Amino acid sequence: MNNEKSLIAKTDLKTLSKQELESLVRDSGLPSFRTRQLLHWIYEKRVQSVGEITEFSKELRDDLSKKTYIGNLTLIRKQTSVDGTEKFLYGLEDNEATESVLISDNSRLTLCISSQVGCAMKCSFCLTGKMNLRRNLKAHEIVDQVIAVGRLIEPQRITNIVFMGMGEPLANFDEVVESLRRMTALLKISKRRITLSTCGIAPKIPELGGAGIPRVNLAVSLNATTDEVRDSIMPVNRKHPLASLLSACRHFPLEPRRRITFEYVLLEGMNDTDMDADRLVQMLRGIPCKVNLIPFNPYKGSKFRRPTDGVLARFQNILLDGNITALLRKSKGPDILAACGQLKAGYC
Ligand code: SAH
Repeated sequence: MNNEKSLIAKTDLKTLSKQELESLVRDSGLPSFRTRQLLHWIYEKRVQSVGEITEFSKELRDDLSKKTYIGNLTLIRKQTSVDGTEKFLYGLEDNEATESVLISDNSRLTLCISSQVGCAMKCSFCLTGKMNLRRNLKAHEIVDQVIAVGRLIEPQRITNIVFMGMGEPLANFDEVVESLRRMTALLKISKRRITLSTCGIAPKIPELGGAGIPRVNLAVSLNATTDEVRDSIMPVNRKHPLASLLSACRHFPLEPRRRITFEYVLLEGMNDTDMDADRLVQMLRGIPCKVNLIPFNPYKGSKFRRPTDGVLARFQNILLDGNITALLRKSKGPDILAACGQLKAGYC
């Protein structure tokens, strides 16, 4: 609990959009440059209370603290994998919790963030899907994962953001879009260094490319090459089958020289045959893209298995021979359940 918070309802400054903060400053009779200062201290200096804004006089800080505060995620637990990957469990104001994963890779420091508590999509290979949807995260709760981890790792800096933690970002469209606006405009993270990953809510894909929305990188979790298999492992496919998903991808307005990433979780005996690889090459023709092959990460009770290294290499080679850029991803942090599809925020 924030110690500036009392029983009277105060406004958490982080819940406000830039425009809303401007109104609050105006309504408080303050000059407009105070908005810029507040944004700078909250998002760049990452202060956790109004009292820390030393650029303001004591009187102004006291005044602001009477009706506002700066809310912060509460770190409940931090785990470190043998490969250096770190997983952060954060408590939210209503006692729900969310997880973020920090992955270091050469010169990159990528933060994998959550957009929902749990997930309603029920992909059968994903552990998060087993906990159901508890609730959507608000824009500020999404952004605050970046602020909170950024504070903890100073003087290092997060270089990339991926929406690949808990939840389906396009099922929480408005809050996710607002979080993208704040990350680019207020945290000053380049939209080219942000990737949103979706299980394929097809109609929302062109919408994400709409005017006024930061044009971040798009990743699509494809995971199958026939509707029959995709229906069986990803229920979303029954509503938005492959043809409509791929058509939506073709309509996503890519920036020059950008490509869509297709993720493909390889499940032994399910989607890992030569025929699957051949079909994948055909399906993706004409779409500027690359494929990330993710060998299945097992967890307790999972009914799927990771294909052998031989099968993985063979699958990758068929894609490469078909002129598709295909990377075989190494799992990060599987020992602390921080790898793809292993997040459950201490629930279950
Ligand atoms: N809901 C979004 C964001 C989650 S990203 C989406 O589906 O894209 C999580 C990625 O991990 C997805 O590509 C998903 O297909 C993959 N994944 C889920 N469970 C996995 C598992 N057990 N092993 C490997 N990858 C998994």
